[in-house]
Amino acid sequence: MQEDKQIKKCTRCGLCASVCPLYEVKPNEKTIARGKFLQLLGVLKGDLILNKKIRENINFCLNCSKCTQNCPSEINTLELFASIKHKNLTLAEKILNSRFAFKLKLLPIKFIFPPSRKLSLKKGEIYFKGCVPSYSNSGDNVCCGLPYKASGNIEAANAMIEKNIKIIENPKIKKVYFDCASCMQTVSTYPFKNPETLEKLVLLEPLHFSESKKFSIHKPCHMAQKEFLALEEILKKRGNYISAYNDKHFRCCGLGGTFFMKHPLVALELCLKNAQKFIDLDVDYVLSPCPVCTLSLRLGMWYLKFIKRIKHNVKIKQY
Ligand code: SF4
Ligand code: SF4
Repeated sequence: MQEDKQIKKCTRCGLCASVCPLYEVKPNEKTIARGKFLQLLGVLKGDLILNKKIRENINFCLNCSKCTQNCPSEINTLELFASIKHKNLTLAEKILNSRFAFKLKLLPIKFIFPPSRKLSLKKGEIYFKGCVPSYSNSGDNVCCGLPYKASGNIEAANAMIEKNIKIIENPKIKKVYFDCASCMQTVSTYPFKNPETLEKLVLLEPLHFSESKKFSIHKPCHMAQKEFLALEEILKKRGNYISAYNDKHFRCCGLGGTFFMKHPLVALELCLKNAQKFIDLDVDYVLSPCPVCTLSLRLGMWYLKFIKRIKHNVKIKQY
């Protein structure tokens, strides 16, 4: 990838500012893709040094891909940042972004929220276990690679992609179920030899419905818009579905992979705004096709109820 060519494609139109979830809480030019690109262009030209401040600005990102999805110049922010980070990783960053460190960071979450259910699968079907799985099924797959790629550890990401491709391309495997929209989206971009392999990938459908209760859905950043709108059409026919996205403003849950570990207060602010949105909708329960978003919503609801003393009965249910 020629980074400078990609960055120069930016027309400074500012559309990324209107979709970036972080810009809502930190309305600053360096928060959005356009501002980050400007700094990186300075570095690539030799006018700026990739110092701690610029690194921090680049890393202040949820890797939600919303800027990429809405960029008229089709700049892939994740790929671009990953490539620049990869070339400039410090020793400390290499250690912090290693597979060992990542597993260590996730241990407390896995300990506090162990999966309690098992997904029933037929012969030839497998469950793609993500970093924070909702199901206890065993699985041979490894992480989809997104957190490693986003942090610039491209070698680790590529090793994972290679292993997962072998598993998914096995002709004995007919269906691969995902409970995480981010894993599903990442795996959809794998370089499979046979493009028909993509047909094996299935995002699990909502399990919980109660005809008498009002419910809504939180759309994860990485769930394809087309897929979400198709799901909404089915749900609207159920009568008790209330869309949280009439204004088409999809709010990020705030956890953004490991973003919340580096910026807990910003993550909490986003998490609370998201939880409040569903309280305002006055629904009985909220579903989300992502274990991490579900976790964030649970945390937000708990915080508003017990710390801020906001009365509500909204329940969060996993897909
Ligand atoms: S949307 Fe794309 S082209 Fe427009 S300012 Fe942002 S990065 Fe540049
Ligand atoms: S990936 Fe998301 S958080 Fe990062 S700059 Fe783009 S829109 Fe903002």
